[in-house]
Amino acid sequence: MVNNDFDLSGKVAVVTGGNGGIGLGIAKGLAAAGAAIVVAARNKEKTARAVSDIEALGARAVGTTLDVQSEDSVRAMVTAATQAFGPIDILINNAGIAIAGEPQSTPLEEWVRVINTNLTGVFLCCKQVHPCMIAAGGGKIINIGSMLSIFGHELVSSYAATKGGVVQLTKSLALAWAQDNVQVNAILPGWISTDLTAATEANPELYNAIKARIPEGRWGIPADCAGAAVFLASRASDYVTGISLAVDGGFSSR
Ligand code: NDP
Repeated sequence: MVNNDFDLSGKVAVVTGGNGGIGLGIAKGLAAAGAAIVVAARNKEKTARAVSDIEALGARAVGTTLDVQSEDSVRAMVTAATQAFGPIDILINNAGIAIAGEPQSTPLEEWVRVINTNLTGVFLCCKQVHPCMIAAGGGKIINIGSMLSIFGHELVSSYAATKGGVVQLTKSLALAWAQDNVQVNAILPGWISTDLTAATEANPELYNAIKARIPEGRWGIPADCAGAAVFLASRASDYVTGISLAVDGGFSSR
């Protein structure tokens, strides 16, 4: 048999927000590499459709309801995932939201919702999955940042604050858990066509201005994020921890 360091056969992967967009693109990539997938998100219908899509690839998949803002919900997700497939080996912290508006008129409730979903949610999932990974002798955590982990943006300051925080949290967890054989890394997607970017894409001027700034000359699709996720989820990356890997068609190099 050929030794394949990217093979994920026998591994169990949880993808938060895995029922659409980048999360589903990553989930399909991990499934194609052999992992069993737990799709964890709020919308049950979307989750059921995503599970069918993944199963159609010949992989094992289940859905479970998750609101990353609630530690009780995160605990319940870990229990459901473990009961379905056994200990979690791979955690993809992908769930995220953005609420646009000028910082001076952002209601506190909106600020808190973005922070709780995009940053505290990542912390809670990492914290609750860590004991599983300890018990299994190691694991892989992949947090989804953004170009706004690097750049600022005048209309999504709360989102940029969370995505900058995700990079720093990634480094700190990588240090804290290196001795546990848990590698913690981030993927920073560029502009990827999903529900999150639909409003931007619907504005032809904005869409084309962004496209013109991308060295690869096109917007990304969710599947573009899958290769980096498979690498960071596999033993091929056992000596890689604390990094943030841009998957952006060169956007952040310009
Ligand atoms: P989508 O809106 O398509 O996906 C977001 C996902 O997050 C949905 O599946 C949603 O499912 C889930 N989600 C939202 N809130 C919660 C919550 N409280 N608990 C659990 N799940 C939740 O957007 P994208 O695929 O574009 O975004 C995925 C990630 O990628 C986000 O972190 C985003 O910030 C990041 N990103 C996206 C970029 C892009 O260009 N598209 C660029 C850079 C980063 P449900 O509503 O069912 O809960």
